[in-house]
Amino acid sequence: VGAGIAGLLAARALADAFDSVVVLDRDDFDDEGLARPGVPQGRHTHLLLPGGLNAIEGLLPGFTADLIERGGRRGDVQERVLMCVGRHRIASGRCGADLVSGSRGMVESTAHRLVSRVPGVEIRPGTSVLDLIVGSDASRVRGVRVAPRDGGPVEELAADLVVDATGRGSRLQEWLGRRGYAVPGESSVRIDERYVTRRFRVPRERDRGLLVIAQGGSPANFRSGIAAHERDDVWTVSLSGYRGDQPARDLPGFVDFAHTLEAPYLAELVDGAEPLDEGASYRFVSNMWRHYERLPRFPSGLLALGDAVCSLDPVKGQGMSLAALQAVVLRDCLSAGPDGLAERFFPAAAAVLAEPWMVAVSAHRDRRRPRQPRELAGAGFERYLDLLVAGAVDDPRLAADFLRTAALVAPSSSLLAPRTAGRVLLRLADRARRARTGQQRGGLATGADPAIRVTQQ
Ligand SMILES: Cc1cc2nc3c(=O)[nH]c(=O)nc-3n(C[C@H](O)[C@H](O)[C@H](O)COP(=O)(O)OP(=O)(O)OC[C@H]3O[C@@H](n4cnc5c(N)ncnc54)[C@H](O)[C@@H]3O)c2cc1C
Repeated sequence: VGAGIAGLLAARALADAFDSVVVLDRDDFDDEGLARPGVPQGRHTHLLLPGGLNAIEGLLPGFTADLIERGGRRGDVQERVLMCVGRHRIASGRCGADLVSGSRGMVESTAHRLVSRVPGVEIRPGTSVLDLIVGSDASRVRGVRVAPRDGGPVEELAADLVVDATGRGSRLQEWLGRRGYAVPGESSVRIDERYVTRRFRVPRERDRGLLVIAQGGSPANFRSGIAAHERDDVWTVSLSGYRGDQPARDLPGFVDFAHTLEAPYLAELVDGAEPLDEGASYRFVSNMWRHYERLPRFPSGLLALGDAVCSLDPVKGQGMSLAALQAVVLRDCLSAGPDGLAERFFPAAAAVLAEPWMVAVSAHRDRRRPRQPRELAGAGFERYLDLLVAGAVDDPRLAADFLRTAALVAPSSSLLAPRTAGRVLLRLADRARRARTGQQRGGLATGADPAIRVTQQ
């Protein structure tokens, strides 16, 4: 249910195990992958991280080549992404992880095209899913109740397995609750980030062949922005603020906001660039994780993945990649047979989500607030990461190690490898020596984005 990234990739995984896979979505689709009502975030800058790209390529061979054919550019993250934290640029080099540019619409419509060619898969647009069909003892889901989006008779569609990929607005908890199932506990970290995105035409001589310009905030200035090459000479530029601080949507206000960021690169990109649209806004309220993996009882014949389970701070650009990695988990679980699917799938998918969740939550923890006891375990690592990112500004090897984890091609634990830890410790020693001798060094101000409220159940 849902033909977004998660639903399409789940369909690909299911097609190896089932004769017939029907993907239902209430929206209509076009070849351009333009923003559609069911995906209001679709007009905003979306990066497909290398870890997600590799996962999609594994599920849909030819995906990368198709994106490039449609005008995307391919390049090493460390070489072609200009990334800043506050005023400071992370050291350039090569980290061995490739990114391909392309809008969210391009990513989705490319996957849509490839999935629709998989034997046994049918994608049915204009169809709203209204509810589950559950067996008389409620232990098994037997299908879904559907209706044409624009009105018409309700139909029952039988299925051996229903996969909820309806995104953050999923109604699965409500559907399960009505059948006497426990509602999964939900972790939530409120961030209230407001985005405005505009598209611009930028000649290649001006963008220097870059794929992305990412300017994160710092404790001195929480405003941030990201620009991504979309195709040919088109770029999308998203600016964001927190706690009611919102970029203007009109062109002069938008450009002015870009000038208030700590580093100058985004302002340089948009200054005088030809605008291609009127802009779009989005308010992202909270990181959210529904813990299906903790439920003691779950009906058979039902799964959920993608934003329907976990929706993370867009600043890290992880959502589509995590959907892809969960689809790989689904494929692997299905290859071991149908028995106890939910009991195997949800914990394995949660293992994929745990680290990105930790990174997203940690970025929004107010470091002036005393830690809760359960946060203490991560405290040392958080501090270590601050030092490492500070080092990544002038040490290309530290930058490469950091970027490989941000790109989801290496786990965070790889940052504790002796080679990396040694370089971080050298920096620590250097910092201590300078503090003793009163010397200054042009360092990076590290710290968290503004945190507002953390609740965990
Ligand atoms: C501002 C912003 C920027 C982002 N930037 C990035 C980024 O740079 N990189 C990244 O990887 N991620 C990013 N994300 C996150 C990313 O958009 C999501 O993680 C991703 O789209 C989740 O895909 P999904 O398929 O799970 O859900 P969705 O994309 O939300 O798709 C859900 C689908 O279900 C359909 N649907 C819903 N209910 C029903 C129903 N009852 N019946 C039938 N169909 C239904 C909808 O029409 C839709 O097609 C960003 C998010 C935001 C808000």
